[in-house]
Amino acid sequence: MKQKIAILCSGGDVSGMNPALKRFVEYAYARDLQPYFVHNGFEGLIDNNITPADYHDVAGIITRGGTKIGSARSKRFMEESFRAVAADNLKSRGIDRLIVLGGDGSFRGMERFYAETGIAFCGIPSTIDNDINGTDYCLGVDTALGVIKNAIDQIRDTASSFRRAFVIETMGRNCGYLALVSAITSGAEVCLIPEIPININDYKGCFQSQISKGRDYFIAIVSEALQNSAEISLWFEKELGIESRVSVLGHIQRGGNPSVYDRLMAYRFVTYAIDALLEGKSHSVICYTKSHFTFKTIDEVALHPYKIDEELLTLGREQFAPSHCQM
Ligand code: ADP
Repeated sequence: MKQKIAILCSGGDVSGMNPALKRFVEYAYARDLQPYFVHNGFEGLIDNNITPADYHDVAGIITRGGTKIGSARSKRFMEESFRAVAADNLKSRGIDRLIVLGGDGSFRGMERFYAETGIAFCGIPSTIDNDINGTDYCLGVDTALGVIKNAIDQIRDTASSFRRAFVIETMGRNCGYLALVSAITSGAEVCLIPEIPININDYKGCFQSQISKGRDYFIAIVSEALQNSAEISLWFEKELGIESRVSVLGHIQRGGNPSVYDRLMAYRFVTYAIDALLEGKSHSVICYTKSHFTFKTIDEVALHPYKIDEELLTLGREQFAPSHCQM
């Protein structure tokens, strides 16, 4: 009888999950495994929403954002009694290996599940916030950056035609990664993130000088982590006398056609995950650091907060320092 393996998506969905599902089914069959889908994250594990997966299930999904098998948060999975039900549902089918696409919360849950049930898992970091410690890259980030780039480019068209400041808020619960990379790569005037403290008033003299020389619009990228987009917009109106608008990009950042890089990373992550489980790795997370894949423990990824790469931060500090603002 074939050995069995399942995959689930947990927490916030990202673009790149569907390519991962496609690779999962194809590579599982290539390794002579029977693949299964668990629908709606840990909720589906508890509710026995587990189905055998076939090539037909993944046909045509590589171009689609989101996840075909659904994702969810699950309060019940926090309780041992429900985790026991979830384990029975897997064991009754002979499934003893699980791939989990999610964030550090999901991995923390799986670590408990493994300790209690012996069901092995491999975590694939998947969040657009790119805020998981131990990995430079999380699945979905590249597509999200592409969506943000397009949005900023389009907002710039209207900002420049209409003499306005635009304060564009990006996602990133506690982490300024999306805002920082987007601000650098879209030529924004201002980038406000928790990791680089800046007093907006320090730009005043420079921006006034730029306006007097003809500048007629500004783009400020602000991370949602700071929760001050409205305040910054008001600053442009009051201190610089330029009409201002806030544009909160919101959930468009989560969706969209997966980028080439996210598709490729999905394929690579899943391949490593299946190989690792077959080699006997029982409870690890695949990380991608300095262009190499490594396997880390849950403590390494979940106990410490993520820090943006120092070189990128230095670039941001230098680029957006008010003292470097060109008069
Ligand atoms: P993410 O995986 O993106 O960090 P969450 O922190 O919301 O997202 O976690 C996703 C799910 O993982 C939760 O809804 C819960 O079911 C499970 N989970 C998180 N932490 C634990 C834990 N300590 N014990 C058991 N399950 C957990």
